[in-house]
Amino acid sequence: MAERPLTSTFDPAGPRSLEAYVRGGGYAAARRALAEMTPAAVAGEVKAAELRGRGGAGFPAGVKWSFIPRTDPGPFYLCVNADEGEPGTFKDRHILAHDPHLLLEGIILCAYAVGVHTAYIYIRGEYEEPARRLEKAIAEAAGAGVLGASVLGSGFSLDVIVHRGAGAYICGEETALLESLEGFRGKPRLKPPFPAAVGLFGKPTVINNVETLAHLPAVIRNGASWFLGLGKPKDGGTRLVSVSGSVVRPGVYELPIGTPLRDVVFVHAGGLAPGRTLKAVIPGGMSSAVLGPGEIDVPMDSASLAAAGSMIGSAGVIVIDDAVSMKTVLDRISRFYAHESCGQCTPCRVGTSWIRRIVLRRGAGEGRAGDLDRIVRLAGAMKGRTLCPFGDAAAVPILALVTKFRAELEQ
Ligand code: SF4
Repeated sequence: MAERPLTSTFDPAGPRSLEAYVRGGGYAAARRALAEMTPAAVAGEVKAAELRGRGGAGFPAGVKWSFIPRTDPGPFYLCVNADEGEPGTFKDRHILAHDPHLLLEGIILCAYAVGVHTAYIYIRGEYEEPARRLEKAIAEAAGAGVLGASVLGSGFSLDVIVHRGAGAYICGEETALLESLEGFRGKPRLKPPFPAAVGLFGKPTVINNVETLAHLPAVIRNGASWFLGLGKPKDGGTRLVSVSGSVVRPGVYELPIGTPLRDVVFVHAGGLAPGRTLKAVIPGGMSSAVLGPGEIDVPMDSASLAAAGSMIGSAGVIVIDDAVSMKTVLDRISRFYAHESCGQCTPCRVGTSWIRRIVLRRGAGEGRAGDLDRIVRLAGAMKGRTLCPFGDAAAVPILALVTKFRAELEQ
């Protein structure tokens, strides 16, 4: 059986307490790192493990940390992105629900490696129960000296603060997250400067996703080469894959990087209901390009899915069978992006709302000749021309859908 370093110790009954986490070997990696390793050694191990960010962009975590300018007097901040708003993606919630201390240990390791003494967890507003569990775990850890003035008795100080969002998808974009955390409306900032140089409160800031940080204890415990061996060259470890839609067993699966998408659907998630046939798979959350049934013999890793014309993104696999109309899929996608655009830049604000209007018009039986071409033109005008990645995230799935399922959408 494949190794599952993240989830093999999860208790289906609920989150592990501090006592249960420590009993299972928890905080041993942080304790060892603080006592025996330099911050540079921890960062070096993570870099060698080729741990790519699990939030969507897939940037190597160790490389990201290295961008913090050492000439800056600080303070430096860590912001944990728990604003899991990508439709079809619910794997960070799985970690927060079952093992909040795993995330806290990852935060300690990252903070020590980078030199951070205050970490913020920005959690989406809808995650009320996970936020409560997180607060409880932080209080437990602070009470036991795992966090605070001397983490695990090392003399290294770290405070962790939970900040709840108000339910805007765009706050998952790292600079919008920073704006929101500072008390402003969550609108993306123009980059550069990147957060590693000018981040929270204008100071150098590392922003990592929940799952990314949760992998760190296993990396330090077992070493970079072990972690790399679980995945593929330049893309180490396992991934939490959320599977939803037309499958028998929707849920979260921890799988080696490079697991074939076909196996995700037909082996791990149990395939389709009897009598149904596969129409399409969205492999990386709603922002990724849809794949047809003949395109799913592709390994679930960044390079392979990019070569297949899509992306691994947040590894939120949405399965669509022949009972689902692609008109409904287009309706959902266009509604979501028109609603969530922050409105700051014209191609996105106007493009998403006009696409929505055309889709609504067609849904009301008032479609006009050339509507799909209009949608393609509007989406094409957004792609690569917006201030933040939201423009591409809205354009790419719509372009793929209209291109691959034009005949059905024309009907
Ligand atoms: Fe806002 Fe959209 Fe522009 Fe991003 S691309 S800044 S979401 S308007």
